[in-house]
Amino acid sequence: MPTRFFNTYTRELEDFRPLDPAGKRVKLYTCGPTVYNFAHIGNFRAYVFEDLLQRHLEARGFEVERVMNLTDVDDKTIRGCRQLGVRLAEFTQKFKDAFFEDLKTLRIKPAAHFPAATEPRYITRMIEMISLLMEKEIAYQAEDKSLYFRLSKFPDYGKLAHLNLDELRPGTRVSSDEYEKENIGDFALWKAWDENDGDVKWDSPWGPGRPGWHIECSAMATALLGPEIDIHCGGVDNIFPHHEAEIAQSECCTGKKFVRYWLHCAHLMVEGQKMSKSAGNFYTLRDLLEKGWTGREIRYALITVNYRLPLNFTFDGLAGARSALGRIDEWVARITRASGGRNAVSSLPALGIDQMSELPLEYRTLFANFFDCLDNDLNISGAMGQFFDLIRESNRRFDQEELGVNDARSLYSAWLTIGSVLDFQRSDFFELQIPEDVSKLADDYQAARRTKNWAESDRLRSMIEAKGWGVRETKEGTKLTPKS
Ligand SMILES: [Zn+2]
Repeated sequence: MPTRFFNTYTRELEDFRPLDPAGKRVKLYTCGPTVYNFAHIGNFRAYVFEDLLQRHLEARGFEVERVMNLTDVDDKTIRGCRQLGVRLAEFTQKFKDAFFEDLKTLRIKPAAHFPAATEPRYITRMIEMISLLMEKEIAYQAEDKSLYFRLSKFPDYGKLAHLNLDELRPGTRVSSDEYEKENIGDFALWKAWDENDGDVKWDSPWGPGRPGWHIECSAMATALLGPEIDIHCGGVDNIFPHHEAEIAQSECCTGKKFVRYWLHCAHLMVEGQKMSKSAGNFYTLRDLLEKGWTGREIRYALITVNYRLPLNFTFDGLAGARSALGRIDEWVARITRASGGRNAVSSLPALGIDQMSELPLEYRTLFANFFDCLDNDLNISGAMGQFFDLIRESNRRFDQEELGVNDARSLYSAWLTIGSVLDFQRSDFFELQIPEDVSKLADDYQAARRTKNWAESDRLRSMIEAKGWGVRETKEGTKLTPKS
C-alpha cells in the first residue's frame, strides 16, 4: 500500500509522491511559533504531529528536508519588547532559546532549517516578492502607506479553506473603518511604520515598515525549498487566512503550484474545554514539567491521537501515557535481557521495513501493520494497537519460555525501527537495567514464594529494596522496577 495523506486542498486521501523524480527527497514546510511567549501544548500538538510525519517518511526511506520558521516580528513581539523597554531581538531571543529547549524535551527532531523572519536575507526576499507583486499590479499601496494584496487578482483564493468567500471577493465595498483598503479581504503584505512600532522598522521602496506575517512564510519557504513544496503543515487555525495568503503570494510570484499536499492537525482541548488563560486550563510545556510529568509522557499523550481528530488533553490521559510507557519499558528490558544484555543489543542493527522476513512469523504481520497503519494518513492509534499486540504476543511466549535469543534479538531490531518513529525509549534505559546480583536475589525471592517460605521472601525483598529496586507481583510474575 502506498503512503497516503488527506490533502486539505482536495479534501481527499491521496497517494503520496514527492516532486523529486527519484521519488526520494521530500520538501516539508511547517509553520513555526511566534516567539513572544513560551509555546503552549496546543502549539506542540502540531509540532509533534509533524515530527511523526517526518519520522514515518524517513522510516519509509524518504529523505525529508524540513523547514520550520520562527516569526520574530509582529504586533505581539513588538508590544512585548516595548513593554519591557528592550530591543526586539533581545526580547525574542529568550523565547527562541526556550522553544529549542522545549523541542528537545519533546524529542522533536530538529528541522534542517529554522529561518527567522528578521534575518536580513529573508527581509530582502520579502521586499523582492512584494516588488514583483507591485509590478504585476497584484499589490497596491493604500492611503495608510501599507501595501496590500489585491484579492481580485487571484481567483483561487479560498480554495484551500473551502469557504464561501464571496463576501471577501471584489464587489463588496469596504466598510468605513477599513477605508484604506480597496476590498475588505485584501491582506497586508507590508505594514507602514507607525509610532507604536518604536524602533522596529526596515527600509523599503515604499517607506519604513515591516513585513506582514503571511509574506514571511512565503519568502522563507521559497528561499529554502524553491517554488514548489511537497508537504506544508500547520494547525487547522492556520488554513484561513494564513495558508490561503501564502498560496496567493507565492503562486503569483513564481507561477508554479506552491504546495502539493496540505496537512492540518485538529485542535487541542484540555479536559474537554477550549484551552484559555481565563478558564485556568492553559498549559505551556513548562507548566506540565513543573507538575512532575516528563517530556516523554507528554510526547506520548500528544502523538498517540490521530492528527485529524481533536485531542482532548487530560491528566488521566497523562497517567495513561505513564503506564503505557511503563509497559513498553518493561518489554524492552525483557527483550534486552533475553538478547544477552546491553553489549549484545548495542551492536544490533535496526530492522528495515523490507527485512521483516527475519522476524519470527507471528510478529511479522504486526510489525508490517504498524507501518501500514501509518501509511494510511498517519493512523497512529491503529499503529499503537499493532505495537501493543506485538508486545503482548511476545510477552506470552516469554512466559512460556518459547522465545530464544535469536528471536529476542530480531524483536529488538524491530523495536529499533518502531522506536525510530515513536522515540519512546527511556533516556536512562541502560542505567536502569537490573544488575546481576539484584536479578539473582529476585530469582531466590520467587523460589521462596513458590515454597511459601514467607519469612525468607520478606528477607529477600528487603535486600532487593536496599539495592534500590522495588518488587511487584503481577499476573506475568515478579517485576523489578527501579525506585526513583
Ligand atoms: Zn506560515
